Amino acid sequence: MAELQLHNTLTGKIEKFVPQKAGEVRMYTCGPTVYDYAHIGNYRTFVFQDILRRFLKLRGFKLNHVMNLTDVDDRIIANAAAAGVNIRDYTAKFVQAFFDDCKTLSIDAPEHWIRATDHIEEMVKLIQRLQEKSFTYPGDGSIYYRIAKFPNYGKLSKIDLTGIQAGARVDNDRYEKESARDFALWKAPKPGEHFWETAIGPGRPGWHIECSAMAMKYLGETLDIHTGGIDLAFPHHENEIAQSEGATGKPLRLQAFSPAVRPRRCSLPQAAQFHIRWSAAGGQFCGAAAEFRRSAEAGEISRGQARGYGRAHCEGGGRV
Ligand SMILES: [Zn+2]
Repeated sequence: MAELQLHNTLTGKIEKFVPQKAGEVRMYTCGPTVYDYAHIGNYRTFVFQDILRRFLKLRGFKLNHVMNLTDVDDRIIANAAAAGVNIRDYTAKFVQAFFDDCKTLSIDAPEHWIRATDHIEEMVKLIQRLQEKSFTYPGDGSIYYRIAKFPNYGKLSKIDLTGIQAGARVDNDRYEKESARDFALWKAPKPGEHFWETAIGPGRPGWHIECSAMAMKYLGETLDIHTGGIDLAFPHHENEIAQSEGATGKPLRLQAFSPAVRPRRCSLPQAAQFHIRWSAAGGQFCGAAAEFRRSAEAGEISRGQARGYGRAHCEGGGRV
C-alpha cells in the first residue's frame, strides 16, 4: 500500500507518516471551549479531524483518538459566577449543542471524550513536575511558566518573540492577552469565582496545561498526531509543547499537524458568521436568523439587512 503522507506544521513539509508503534496511532485533538456555541470555523477543524480519523482507520491503523472539552476557562468561570450556577450547569447546553452539531455533521466520536474539569489532579501533578525542574515561578498566588528556560519555544508557530516584552505576565486565557511571553499554568482564585483546593494552592488551571495533562494521561508522554485549528498554533500548541517537553524531556509530537481551519470569508457580519449552527433537521441553518437579528439589535447591521440576510441564508439552504 502506498505510504501515508501528511503535512507537518512543525517542519512545514509534507512527510511520510510513521507512528511510534507500527499499526497504531495516538492522536489528540483540541476540542471546543464550551463557553458559547461553537462557530462554523470550529466545525471546519472537527470535520477535518473526522476525515483524518476515518482515513487512518480505513488504512488499518488501530486508533486511539482523544478529544477534550475545555470546560475550564476564564470566560466560563466568570459567566458561571455571574449566572450564579456551577460550571457543569453553565456549560451543559453548549456541550449538548456541540454534540448535536457533531451528529448533524456525521462526525464520529473519538475513542475518548474528556473534560478538563475531570482532570484537575493530573494538571496539578504536571505543574509539580515542572516546578521540580524549575520551569515555573510563583506570583500573586498564580504559577507561571518561565519561557526563557525552554530555548525551543516558538518552533511550531515560528513566532518571532523579539517584539514581545520579556517577563510580562498575563493570566488571561484569551489570545490577544496571552501573546506576552510567560504564561500562567495555575491561576489564583478571583473573588466570587469557582476554584479548586489543591496541593499547589487554591485556584484554577490555565488553558494550556489542561491539554498537556490530558494528552499525557490517555496517550502517554508523546503522541503521533496533534490536531487543532491553525489559530491554536500560537500560543496554545506552542505552550503545550513547552509544558510537555519541559516535563518529560521527550518530543511531544513526532508529527504535529495543525490543519488550516480559517473559514472562508464571506460578506456576512462577523457576529452572524460566528454563531451559525446547523439544525438537526436537514442541515438548514436554524440559528442564523436569530443571529442576524442580534447583530441588528447590537447596531452592527440595519434591520433591513438582517431581514435580507435571514431570507437569503435561511431560505436559500443556508450556504455561506
Ligand atoms: Zn488544546
